[in-house]
Amino acid sequence: MIDTSRMPVLDVHAHPFVARGEQDAAQFTNTISFGGGSPAYMEQGGIAVDDAVLAELQRNKHDVVYFRYTVHLLAEFLGCEPELEAVIEARNAALREGYTEYVARLYDACGLNAMVVDFGYPQPPISVEQFDAEMPDSLEVVPIYRIEPLIVDLLAERVGWDEFSRRYDEAISHAIEHEGFKGVKSIIAYRTGLDVSPLSRTPDQGRLALDAIHRGTGGNATKKLRDHLLCRALELCMDYDVPMQIHTGMGDYEVNLTECRPALLMDLLRFPTFRACHVLLVHTGYPYHAEAGYMANVLPRVYCDLSEGIPFAGAAARRIVAEVLEMAPLSKVVYGSDGYGAPEINYVGAVLGKRAVAQALQALVDEGMLSQPEATEAARDILSGNARRLYHLDS
Ligand SMILES: [Zn+2]
Repeated sequence: MIDTSRMPVLDVHAHPFVARGEQDAAQFTNTISFGGGSPAYMEQGGIAVDDAVLAELQRNKHDVVYFRYTVHLLAEFLGCEPELEAVIEARNAALREGYTEYVARLYDACGLNAMVVDFGYPQPPISVEQFDAEMPDSLEVVPIYRIEPLIVDLLAERVGWDEFSRRYDEAISHAIEHEGFKGVKSIIAYRTGLDVSPLSRTPDQGRLALDAIHRGTGGNATKKLRDHLLCRALELCMDYDVPMQIHTGMGDYEVNLTECRPALLMDLLRFPTFRACHVLLVHTGYPYHAEAGYMANVLPRVYCDLSEGIPFAGAAARRIVAEVLEMAPLSKVVYGSDGYGAPEINYVGAVLGKRAVAQALQALVDEGMLSQPEATEAARDILSGNARRLYHLDS
């Protein structure tokens, strides 16, 4: 079996953490779970939240395989019984020794030494400086800039198109030129979907759409505006030679699940104007990840990020890597976790990711498709090397 235990890991898609102190079992469950609902979600549906409903929500989260696996892995790391309460007790004791020190121990244990972080979530944002200061020195924090909060701010100000478009460009340019952001990110899949026409790039589409929004005539105006702004962000990425991350596939319950398939981006990404852009299909569009692998094959600058499926789809980790590698070049698949909330998600992702990458590549060796050295090199590249090259980081 390929030994990934000592290989460094670069997590290409993550978010700053909110839970930096001690938590009880229910809080920690809510922090690290992918879905399962919240009291607010139930209340908005007219459901009175009593103890029975709270217990129902907790049970939804505890019964996901990813969650059970997380408890087992953390128990092993903390040296306690594989039960949630024991893990919480040991975790809180470790945190009392120092948050940064605890994160350092966690990430040291899995080789995680760099993270590309989308600061657009959570909102209100945690600053790059604050997050970086709380992380151990051994972790390189690489910030990327999310366009959607900027769009919300500019819409709220009701400025005309000339000012809107100037300030949009300036904010992204400033983030890259002066604030250390190494790339851009879009979650248009959560808003109006991935079916974006490349013809949306004409500035007149932005002008027309914003005017319709201001006049309240609506229609498809919001989609037209967002589509134009995504095109513009791709152009700015090409100007600055930084990668663009585009959310594809599953997300929380707000994602536009019928409009999130990676294939919907084909028209946009193969359009000659955008071919120069390096684009990461974030989450490989899971559960449509084979589609993303195909796109990384036929579109020279499109990459697959493995996050979210790893770790949240738990048992699917090995299959995701294997199916992406059916078509995607070994040099264009990058490991990520989509960890948020608490540092443990990124730890679980790294442990599971290392195992899945090793298993999937070893199977290719066993089938005579790769040599052992080729597979070992590919594991190193997927876990760290490919993303280092993509983000121009020193190795
Ligand atoms: Zn994310």
